[in-house]
Amino acid sequence: QAKDAGRGVARYFSSELQSEQEDRVRLESDLRSAIASNQFHLVYQPLINAKTQKLVGFEALIRWNHPQRGNVPPNVFIPVAEETGLMGAIGAWVIDEACRSAATWPEPITVALNISPKQIILPALPNIVSEALARHKLPGNRIELEVTEGVFLGDNGSTLDVLKRLRQLGVGIALDDFGTGYSSIGYLNKAVFHKLKIDGSFVREAGSRPENVAIIQSIVQLAKSFRMSITAEGVESAEDFERMRDLGCDTIQGYLFGRPLAYERANQMVRGLGAKRMAG
Ligand code: C2E
Ligand code: MG
Ligand code: MG
Ligand code: MG
Repeated sequence: QAKDAGRGVARYFSSELQSEQEDRVRLESDLRSAIASNQFHLVYQPLINAKTQKLVGFEALIRWNHPQRGNVPPNVFIPVAEETGLMGAIGAWVIDEACRSAATWPEPITVALNISPKQIILPALPNIVSEALARHKLPGNRIELEVTEGVFLGDNGSTLDVLKRLRQLGVGIALDDFGTGYSSIGYLNKAVFHKLKIDGSFVREAGSRPENVAIIQSIVQLAKSFRMSITAEGVESAEDFERMRDLGCDTIQGYLFGRPLAYERANQMVRGLGAKRMAG
């Protein structure tokens, strides 16, 4: 017990813990009202065909403009949403909003969006997706859902089922952040993923660590044998781009080709305006 360790220490720990907890509680209650008061928006990061260097789509990424704190990054508030049961509602908003944008853009532009493990366990997820598609008159193949291997942790056996039902709607399913975590190649063999996204940290490390190149090479070969398409994330330099293209990646995403953009900027890019100055 902390008490036994001495009064000063106990007080130090408890006040630190307390303020951390208070911060969480405040963030949680703020999150509860954030949807209703329009504090979320999506930004859209370009995805580029590695061979033609043409725009093929975007990844939609959530942003929270907190009235007092300003921009709170998703890496901070998504875990809070996940732990407090709010991810379902926020995730449903993301699905609707991403479909709304995708419906304003022509084929073959696709919009990818991230799905939390907490959404995968919701039995209603396939319905939420199909209803959003219907609401915006969007064919399923115009969106992609990105999941990490986290969806299989603590899986009660239904995850694969849910992913297959989503595939039946025509939507793509990408395995995100590959190269981090366990990245078991067993996941590639699940026959539900149409795409593999190699994590940015792994992509950038390849420059300084040649052994990563060999690993990426075999991941790409394996994924291709399962007829998956491959995206390199986090491409920041021309060297990263050329390396990943030459290794066989089909699609490139990263600051080199564009930062996440507000809808209007993304829309200009789709319409071929402002294509020269993509960064920003
Ligand atoms: P992610 O899905 O892997 O998204 C890619 C992240 O890498 C984004 O960070 C993006 O801005 C960043 N990025 C893109 N290109 C580069 C680059 O060249 N260099 C570097 N250093 N970073 C790059 P962001 O937007 O902060 O999102 C972080 C994570 O938060 C996402 O990782 C995703 O796991 C989660 N997230 C974001 N939006 C959503 C959402 O709507 N729903 C859920 N469930 N998770 C989301
Ligand atoms: Mg993603
Ligand atoms: Mg990723
Ligand atoms: Mg990530």
